[in-house]
Amino acid sequence: MSAVFRVPPTTTGNSEGHVDYRLARASMLASYRRGVLDLSEVCDAHPELVRAAREVGRRIQGDCPICQRVRLVQVTYVFGPRLPKHGRCISLRGELARLAKRPGTHVAFVVEVCQACSWNHLVRRSTLERPGAPGPAETAAEEPNG
Ligand SMILES: [Zn+2]
Repeated sequence: MSAVFRVPPTTTGNSEGHVDYRLARASMLASYRRGVLDLSEVCDAHPELVRAAREVGRRIQGDCPICQRVRLVQVTYVFGPRLPKHGRCISLRGELARLAKRPGTHVAFVVEVCQACSWNHLVRRSTLERPGAPGPAETAAEEPNG
């Protein structure tokens, strides 16, 4: 996977399903405040990511933790079969739901971005659930209940 955002290593959670990166984010901010990390190391958003933030970013609660000048936005990228190697940037309402219906596993990455100072961090990743599709372990015939 080649992405326009950083994927921090996770110590908790499995690779499937839902992974929350709040701890990694907090520790990165703490390192920056202690002077361990340089501004250029935390505010290093890829130009493509900044462009996506400007064009399709969804405003969220909270100001940028670095510059405190502007509201943060979130951008969602989906990786999966027949999608671009750098992921599909979700720009349309309902696009996620449509991708979830496709065969294969699709993983969504939500990234927060500051357009003013280029702060960026992965918020969470989650595997898209196929609506109505049986889980891999539930291929056996349904048993009528009651
Ligand atoms: Zn900022």
